[in-house]
Amino acid sequence: MDILDLYELPTIIQLQGNVPKKEQWKRTIKLKVDKFCKDKTLTESERKSSLKFMNTENFEINKHHKVWKVKHLPRFELRKAIIKTRMITGTYILQADKHKFTPYTVEPICQLCKTNNEDITHFLTTCPILSTTREKYFLDIRKEITDKITPAKLNCTFMNKTAIVQLLIDCSKYKELFDNCEKFMENIENKTRNMLLEMHIERLKMKIMDNK
Ligand SMILES: [Zn+2]
Repeated sequence: MDILDLYELPTIIQLQGNVPKKEQWKRTIKLKVDKFCKDKTLTESERKSSLKFMNTENFEINKHHKVWKVKHLPRFELRKAIIKTRMITGTYILQADKHKFTPYTVEPICQLCKTNNEDITHFLTTCPILSTTREKYFLDIRKEITDKITPAKLNCTFMNKTAIVQLLIDCSKYKELFDNCEKFMENIENKTRNMLLEMHIERLKMKIMDNK
């Protein structure tokens, strides 16, 4: 395929007939290349089940995801953003993921509770070993949301575990539910970021204790 075709630019014949000015050409190229990258990223992300919790509705090329809006105590905040990004992009490896890569040698069962397969939903919403840490952070998040929306809306939206995982991993999916309130979204983003880091630390601690 011709490179002009690839980026939906005018053909060489059209360009020879109407040579654009340098600045105008630069702007056109940037717009078309950005559009190409955006469309390609969105198409590929739809195909990947590992990205199912990443909200791509407001995705823009050259704009970072809200998870990277890091302020105060940069190093510690950076660690939270890294953990959360790994969960958003499906690269936070749990037992069920290890099992997918090496099905004959690794069991998918959660090594902490040994009751269910350890996928992201089990880790974040049901593993009984992590319930104290989970409740400590989630009750606060729930209270913030209860103060913002009606109990009926809350129960209707977050009636299943997948919706709760979505809220914890990428709450921007619920932008409209939260009246597009940037300040509120930022607050939930910070609280979920804290929760995910603590869950991550607690899981590691429990695994180390279990191996002793
Ligand atoms: Zn478990």
